[in-house]
Amino acid sequence: MIPFLDLKKINEPYEAGFRQKMDEILAKGWFILGDEVGAFEKKYAAYCGTKHCIGVANGLDALVLVLKSYIQIGKLQQGDEVIVPANTFIATILSVLEAGLVPVAAEPDMQTFNLDPKSAADKITAKTKAIIVVHLYGQIADMDAFSAMAKKYNLLLIEDAAQAHGARNNKGVKAGNLSDAAAFSFYPAKNLGALGDAGAITTNDTALAAMVSSLHNYGSEVKYQHDFAGTNSRLDEIQAAFLNIKLDGLDRDNAHRRKIAAIYSEGISNPKIILPFYEGDQSHVFHLYVIRTGNRDALQQFLSSQGISSQIHYPIAPHRQKALKEWHHLSFPITEKIHEEVLSLPISPVMTEEDAHFVVSVLNQY
Ligand SMILES: *Cc1c(COP(=O)(O)O)cnc(C)c1O
Repeated sequence: MIPFLDLKKINEPYEAGFRQKMDEILAKGWFILGDEVGAFEKKYAAYCGTKHCIGVANGLDALVLVLKSYIQIGKLQQGDEVIVPANTFIATILSVLEAGLVPVAAEPDMQTFNLDPKSAADKITAKTKAIIVVHLYGQIADMDAFSAMAKKYNLLLIEDAAQAHGARNNKGVKAGNLSDAAAFSFYPAKNLGALGDAGAITTNDTALAAMVSSLHNYGSEVKYQHDFAGTNSRLDEIQAAFLNIKLDGLDRDNAHRRKIAAIYSEGISNPKIILPFYEGDQSHVFHLYVIRTGNRDALQQFLSSQGISSQIHYPIAPHRQKALKEWHHLSFPITEKIHEEVLSLPISPVMTEEDAHFVVSVLNQY
């Protein structure tokens, strides 16, 4: 059996380190906003190349806190429109709604699955004040085009980098440092995953960082003194400690993911399967390796019959979800086609090259 993702095996190399850290934390008895969170924020900011990093409870909160902080510092107002990709994990869209802003969806590019700058530009109105791009499946979006667009129309540019830890553009600049502010998730299955929920915001904007830092801790900088009606979305000391340990392995893990992806891209030659498009550099960290095919369910069943698990990211487009009834009348043909055809193959830092070659041979027999 080739599992889609083996979290137990992924964490195994770090277990001794985790146990030792856990003992230290228990001995110290400090669990919220202490040295471990501080150390992780410093280390992750340095890793991304940004001035600031603020740890938060999860990736959705990271997005919401960026938007609410922009509202609080006067750069966004309730009712402003925010352009989002029509094909993304629903959190991107829900964050805009939760902040009291208006999400406006635009089509992706069929080749890269990432938001298409031309489709996004078509959605700009006088009310548009921000764009959230998603580096979907781990591949950096067309940031040169989006930066130019943001400058031209005076829009905030925000990265949903929840799937792209460590991805870098052709100048070596990392995801999280390619926009005004970025949101990360450290959900266990992400490229950098905690042992539970966790997230972070990175930015070079000192005023924004200060507001996020306040809002994520009850709008308070000084204990029991509250300047804003904030929330509780803190990163735990324990998760921060584990992330500190795992961050050291991120580049190596991503390199292995790219190796598995290269085996797929070089080996799969079945004309019924469309391979993902990407540059051969480090702009893709393969959170997922996503192929397209006409009869997706049949292919998934065939793989399963040969002992290979696969998944669909995502089976239902956001504008078709029950949660977004107000979007049911909208039509996004490219997004719909992608949702009908995509299939994610197994890929992870612990998948063996042998297993990847087996997946290739099975796909070529289909
Ligand atoms: C995982 C993910 C999120 C949300 O992260 P959580 O930590 O689960 O809240 C947001 N956006 C994208 C694109 C994601 O993949």
